[in-house]
Amino acid sequence: MKNVYFRAEVDETKCIGDGLCQTVCPSGAIRVEDKKARVDDRKCVACNHCADICPEEAVRLVDRTEPLLLKVNPAEVDRNELVKLCIKAHLHPRQLICLCAGTRVEEAAAAVLKGARSLQDITTMTGVCSGCTLYCTEPMLRLLKAAGIEPDLGEGRRLYNITPTIWDVPEEVIRKHPGYYLEEDKGVFRKT
Ligand code: SF4
Ligand code: SF4
Repeated sequence: MKNVYFRAEVDETKCIGDGLCQTVCPSGAIRVEDKKARVDDRKCVACNHCADICPEEAVRLVDRTEPLLLKVNPAEVDRNELVKLCIKAHLHPRQLICLCAGTRVEEAAAAVLKGARSLQDITTMTGVCSGCTLYCTEPMLRLLKAAGIEPDLGEGRRLYNITPTIWDVPEEVIRKHPGYYLEEDKGVFRKT
């Protein structure tokens, strides 16, 4: 959940249309059209990444007239389906998925069950990925894949893709290297 109090605004007289801003926008809110960057206010989560990367200082955050509330209530989806999705993604529903927005896995999972089909969808529905973007991308990708969705990463977007974890190590490798105790480690995680 996030209350968004600002929105990005582009000074078209400074914008050179190089498109750098759209490679870092987590919600797909900023796009270059006719060689000028334009912002969809309804999607902007005020992360400031576009302003940070813009070489012409053409973007700044300005106040919204009304804050934009981004929130999906996990209680509105079937709890069993939600827990099943989280287990398949090897995530705990109460685990924090986004430290910046203080959002838990269950909210992002509920967004997927309510129709989110991409990282951008989850961001615009919940506000996840509107801060550092270091930790949240990976679990969001896991949730989408667990739901059988091959996520559209967004054209030219810069992000961290899925990194292998203990759950991705093939069984034959685990058996071949018992000294690493990977099976035992997985048992501990399953219990928690
Ligand atoms: S990064 Fe700046 S100059 Fe480049 S397209 Fe975006 S707003 Fe325009
Ligand atoms: S979501 Fe972030 S990167 Fe995208 S337009 Fe808004 S402030 Fe810029």
